[in-house]
Amino acid sequence: MPATPPLPADPLIAPSRGRTRRTLLKAGGALLLSVLAPLPARAAQILAVRVWPADDYTRVTLENDADLKTSHFIVKDPERLVVDIEGLDLNPELKSLVAKIQSNDPYIRQVRVGQNRPGVVRLVFDLKEQIRPQVFTLAPVGEYKHRLIFDLYPVQEMDPLAAMIEKGEWSSDGVPVGQPQVAEQHPAPGLPLPDNRIPAPGVPSQAVPRPDIAKVEPRKPEPPKPNDKLVRMLTIALDPGHGGEDPGAIGGRGSREKDIVLAIAKRLKAKLEQHPNMRVMLTRDGDYFVPLNKRVEKARKVDADLFISIHADAFIKPTARGSSVFVLSEKGASSSAARWLANKENQADLIGGAQSGGADPQLASVLFDLSTTAQINDSMKVGKAVLQQIGGINTLHKNAVEQAGFAVLKAPDIPSILIETAFISNPEEEARLLDNNYQDQIADAIVKGIRAYFAKNPPLAKNRLT
Ligand SMILES: [Zn+2]
Repeated sequence: MPATPPLPADPLIAPSRGRTRRTLLKAGGALLLSVLAPLPARAAQILAVRVWPADDYTRVTLENDADLKTSHFIVKDPERLVVDIEGLDLNPELKSLVAKIQSNDPYIRQVRVGQNRPGVVRLVFDLKEQIRPQVFTLAPVGEYKHRLIFDLYPVQEMDPLAAMIEKGEWSSDGVPVGQPQVAEQHPAPGLPLPDNRIPAPGVPSQAVPRPDIAKVEPRKPEPPKPNDKLVRMLTIALDPGHGGEDPGAIGGRGSREKDIVLAIAKRLKAKLEQHPNMRVMLTRDGDYFVPLNKRVEKARKVDADLFISIHADAFIKPTARGSSVFVLSEKGASSSAARWLANKENQADLIGGAQSGGADPQLASVLFDLSTTAQINDSMKVGKAVLQQIGGINTLHKNAVEQAGFAVLKAPDIPSILIETAFISNPEEEARLLDNNYQDQIADAIVKGIRAYFAKNPPLAKNRLT
């Protein structure tokens, strides 16, 4: 744990008096004005400090009671990010940030906090490598007051395919003929799966035989040659909803949707990977937020054959219950409840916190319009197959696949479904969602649904890789 850093000795935090005076004398009117300007009647207070470290990026959130003005810059040798925040009181909550940086944070070595000059608090992030910072504010939403966000991205953004190859999770095409195909393959039901049986990164799993773990340089795999009589690998993108700043729905016992859906997704991943022709990409594998368009982008980068978003439902009335499956709709929602739910899920970016203008939404919508109907038709088939299996283990909220405008289902070329596994707002179903057995059952049901879909709709040879 980082000890209290020697703040006053650090010239970045507290410039020596002599230097301050010289700077002031040299400075033009602007700086003098800003120093002499009357301080606001009451300085802003930091209400909460949160840190979300992840391989994708580390986020630091300062929740406060006013919209804060900041400036930031990078200092080299060693690499540091310096942030000045105006009109802020240096309170114990803000100082607690120092102890919240974990030693295994991928990007931040430590942070130092101090009063830099009257009315200005300075944060210095000592970094482990060069980063690309995104600093932005978010207006109050839901339970949150104003938020000041620092997202520290690696200079070279993590490519999901390269990440899978690095972890040994990109098993390549090339299961020889004679190996059972998806359709005829024996399922592995009832195999006891201990919690989170995910091999540590870099450690090949003992339990999952992988004939061809790619220990190669990150690169796009070569598309199979047309006359290769091989079973094609299927890539499934699993998308645990919410994460990080966005807890999703919260149950009466305080359980959070983001934790439950991540646990279910990890079980599902392990079960799918027992099939030699399936590999799985998780859009997030930890407790951090991934913007909705980023989730779609990740699935497209690995050229996924299927996108499955996993959620837990909630309603004002605790009696609402049952599982549901949704696909996108071309025009309007299939019911007002579906529309309401899609609106709620689409708010994730506001709560989870996404800087606007990252992706190109216009390009996405053009691509999407070209292939909407085909995508929805395929998604409907997957949805029906999965819903039928889930119906065997839980009450269904509706007996049919529903449709609405979920942003996360808008991959133009990937069949995409969103599963509401059960109602976290229903006490009985909350208990089930927290139960290892139920998590296993729902994961098994989804695997069966996916396999039934591919059995009826055999995947074509890939020609989309270019
Ligand atoms: Zn959700």
